[in-house]
Amino acid sequence: MARINDNFLKLKAGYLFPEIARRVNAYTEANAEAAGRLIRCGIGDVTEALPQAVQKAMHDAVDELGERGTFRGYGPEQGYDFLREAIAENQFASVGISADEVFISDGSKCDTGNILDIFGPGNKIAITDPVYPVYVDTNVMAGNTGEADANGAYGGLVYLPCTSENDFVPAIPEEKVDLIYLCYPNNPTGATATRAQLEAWVDYAKENDAIILYDAAYEAFVQESDVPKSIFEIDGAKSCAIEFRSFSKNGGFTGVRCAYTVIPKDLMGKAEDGSEVSLHQLWSRRHSTKFNGASYPVQRGAAAVFSPEGKAEVAALVEHYMGNAKLLREACEKIGLTVFGGVNAPYVWVGCPEGVDSWGMFDRMLEQAQVVITPGAGFGAAGEGYFRISAFNSRENVEEVCRRIAENLG
Ligand SMILES: *Cc1c(COP(=O)(O)O)cnc(C)c1O
Repeated sequence: MARINDNFLKLKAGYLFPEIARRVNAYTEANAEAAGRLIRCGIGDVTEALPQAVQKAMHDAVDELGERGTFRGYGPEQGYDFLREAIAENQFASVGISADEVFISDGSKCDTGNILDIFGPGNKIAITDPVYPVYVDTNVMAGNTGEADANGAYGGLVYLPCTSENDFVPAIPEEKVDLIYLCYPNNPTGATATRAQLEAWVDYAKENDAIILYDAAYEAFVQESDVPKSIFEIDGAKSCAIEFRSFSKNGGFTGVRCAYTVIPKDLMGKAEDGSEVSLHQLWSRRHSTKFNGASYPVQRGAAAVFSPEGKAEVAALVEHYMGNAKLLREACEKIGLTVFGGVNAPYVWVGCPEGVDSWGMFDRMLEQAQVVITPGAGFGAAGEGYFRISAFNSRENVEEVCRRIAENLG
């Protein structure tokens, strides 16, 4: 019989979203009349339609493929130049990232998981708590951890707690680590990191020969001009960081699928014999071997995000979601809750009232307001005592959620 990858057996059975579904089902079965009132503010998925500019570019690309003369088959594995150049020019001109340092893919979820292909065994890995679960589970699958303890914390990982005491940006670890996952603006806390905080992390990474894996999926939601949008805005980051970005949240591509990873050519890792090796070359090779490129119509659609019409439409989407975030923040503040996030990110992170834990708050929101939120504890032990409300929704739904919070939870 074929041997399996035993590391998969260490994974905790998908706990958060199945448990949410179980509680929602139990409630709606017992309260048929309340079921129709349910509003979901849980899962981090966009709700509004694709920008017109994107739709048109994708339609046109399909028409091209429909004619023998303009048909295209396999494209470059690393992405078409038209998209890599548009990204370098529109997203990184001020920090000097070149088009060939940008690798196009079908999603940041895949990229943040696949990146482990180019790193060897024995790395000490630091992960924030609470966290986007993909970073943890892909390290478990790759064999970079031990077993989980009773709280779901895996042996071998260095957990970096993010709480209101440190403004949800982790303290620099005392010990030496090799890989550090950071995500700002953050999912789930909605927090941002200041320039000084990121500088401290870049200094640490350079002193310790560590690499920062920086997830900037929510950069488009940054409203305040002094909040960094890219790790590469920090001097020295090009020799110690990889950045992940996606069209999912800004362009509404969660169903279309397109993202990119930036690996500067200066970035090096160490081989077993001690020699330095370019991570850019390894990732390029990995893409060529395991990936045949994102689809052509999708890459045309992504490039249209940077057209003048596309930029205006994305700005309107961001304004819509951030308007929702503001209303949700105010509604929670009005009933006396302590609110974080929601200013430069589409997530509002709310402190539970005295004496209620995060699953208790989940039940209360479900039973008293028929609103589904995400309990903070589902993102890690340090998320206990908080819950996340997603601003990805229609204005109508958000206004109704705010009314219910005021009337039923105040
Ligand atoms: C939504 C999200 C992404 C984007 O993932 P895609 O696979 O590109 O849709 C990446 N990181 C975080 C933290 C996210 O919440």
